[in-house]
Amino acid sequence: MVLGSYEKIVSAKTTNNKIYKHAQDGGIITSLLIYALEEGMIDGALVAGDPDHDWVPVPQIATTPEEILESAGTKYTMCPSIEAIKKVVNEEKLNNIGAVLTPCQCQTIRKAQKYPMSIGSFANSLNLIFGVFCLRTFSHEAIDKFAEDMLGTNIRDVKRMNIAHGSFYLNEWDDNKRIPLKELHGFEQKGCNVCKDFSSLFADLSLGTAGSPPSYSTVILRTKKGLDLFNSVVDAGLLEFDPIEDVCPGLSLLEIRGEGKEHQANKEIKRREEQGMFVPRIF
Ligand SMILES: Cc1cc2nc3c(=O)[nH]c(=O)nc-3n(C[C@H](O)[C@H](O)[C@H](O)COP(=O)(O)OP(=O)(O)OC[C@H]3O[C@@H](n4cnc5c(N)ncnc54)[C@H](O)[C@@H]3O)c2cc1C
Ligand code: SF4
Repeated sequence: MVLGSYEKIVSAKTTNNKIYKHAQDGGIITSLLIYALEEGMIDGALVAGDPDHDWVPVPQIATTPEEILESAGTKYTMCPSIEAIKKVVNEEKLNNIGAVLTPCQCQTIRKAQKYPMSIGSFANSLNLIFGVFCLRTFSHEAIDKFAEDMLGTNIRDVKRMNIAHGSFYLNEWDDNKRIPLKELHGFEQKGCNVCKDFSSLFADLSLGTAGSPPSYSTVILRTKKGLDLFNSVVDAGLLEFDPIEDVCPGLSLLEIRGEGKEHQANKEIKRREEQGMFVPRIF
């Protein structure tokens, strides 16, 4: 069960054109966060902003639909969101937060909620966890270099980044403006090579590009909370969706991605152990 436990998996897209234009894929995270905020289910959203327009993700607490919309789109660098939670809870006095996290960050939060030491009491303020699919992240320096090498352009002129079909794309789906991911091996964060969680196993809802046709997001509805929110947004006419079984490439690609990541991580863990190196225990 490489995809963990879930209620159902769908391929979905927002019906709101403004959200769609800003969003990475189907605009599902943005749509659900805005709905949850407007309906009082959360009092703020912990998202990854880009205040300096240089693709350095900065944790931000969004308390208006405009701020949530502003943060849409994927930044392929780790956003130090966990570090920001304490500040958000203490200074902004929020205790009912929806958060967008990578799989490793979802694990950290669930552990902290279960074993309430250190950031435990703050972690309990996260009530709705959106986990993204994740194969790897890159340092900002590496992304800066890709922009220069691929486009001969400044990172600030990049409007969009995508990782899909085994390549890293900047700005558009142009075969002349992509780097095959195998050429980027060595630029990823070192911890990513021993990470086995592709689909954010511990989130309320997990979302990603893989499995869906272009312009749609794959959504794994894991908890009742996640499923209820999704159904409410569909009932409000804000999303359209198909079961994952009805779309191409569908479930099989998700399983391939999940199993592939686990296999690579196991290989790297073995290699590091054989060399007597420290291996962090990421699920
Ligand atoms: C670091 C990273 C790696 C990813 N890798 C893959 C992958 O390998 N395969 C795959 O299928 N999908 C991957 N995704 C998921 C995919 O890029 C989309 O996030 C997903 O399909 C949801 O699309 P959307 O249109 O609903 O999101 P949107 O509505 O555009 O919302 C995106 C949300 O993600 C937040 N966000 C952006 N960057 C970060 C970050 N670094 N950390 C935390 N939150 C962030 C934004 O603030 C925003 O709230 C990755 C996402 C991230 C953040
Ligand atoms: S690959 Fe794993 S460790 Fe790396 S950012 Fe993604 S979830 Fe975190």
